[in-house]
Parts: sequence; C-alpha cells; structure tokens
Amino acid sequence: MSHHEPVAGSCLCGAVRFEIAPPSMMFKYCHCTRCRKATGAAHAANLFLPAGQFKWLAGESLLRHFDLPGAKRFALNFCTQCGTRMPHKVTGSENMLVPAGVLDAVPDLKPDSSIFWASKAPWYVETPELPKFEEYGK
Ligand SMILES: [Zn+2]
Ligand SMILES: [Zn+2]
Repeated sequence: MSHHEPVAGSCLCGAVRFEIAPPSMMFKYCHCTRCRKATGAAHAANLFLPAGQFKWLAGESLLRHFDLPGAKRFALNFCTQCGTRMPHKVTGSENMLVPAGVLDAVPDLKPDSSIFWASKAPWYVETPELPKFEEYGK
C-alpha cells in the first residue's frame, strides 16, 4: 500500500465519485448519537484529511448537504439518487470528513480510537465477542 496513490470512493449507485490523496490525518469510530442517526449504524467510521487532498470526480451536482440546526460542526452530504453518505468539509475547518465505508480501496490509516464512547448505543456489543460468518449468518 503506497502513501502516494490516490484512493477512490463512490456511492452505492456509482453516480458520485471522488478521490483522496494520502496522507490522511486521523481515523476514528464515532459513537455519538448524531453519527448513529446519520449512519443508521452502531458508529460512524470517519477518516479526516485536508480539503486540498480531496477531489470530486463525478456527480457533485447530485449531492445534498444537510447542516444540523444548532450544531456547531455536525453536517452531512449524501447522494440524492441512492442516499449514500458522502464526504463533506467540516464546518469551521479546512478538513474533509470521509465516511470510510464508501472508499473503494484501502486508506493509509486504520482507526486509532473510538470516540464518544459514553454515547454508544445501549445495545452495542464489542465485535470480538460476536461469532463471525463469511456471509449471512444463521
Ligand atoms: Zn448514489
Ligand atoms: Zn459522531
């Protein structure tokens, strides 16, 4: 894995595409209630890097931006065709937040921490405790 090769990303329908140029700055699992709502999942997997290292390749006009009223920083972008969450520039910062699950290749970092742990879903079970299935489980 090279730290210089761009890493591509895309939405589920494929209309929105982008690429990032490593090095990335940080990669966190975020368990805050906003990220749980926005992803519909137990936590977000957020990769951050300077906006200058980010480039839209296609479909930018299909993006819709949502700024959460009353939030200092929380916002999101999504593809209006398929609903996939897409990267956005963090309000009041020069950095992009990239939802790592939409990347089509391996980024240069792995998550280094879980943040807003106190806000984690009450039903959250740490995954080492769960049996693993290659595809659908029973
Ligand atoms: Zn899409
Ligand atoms: Zn969060």
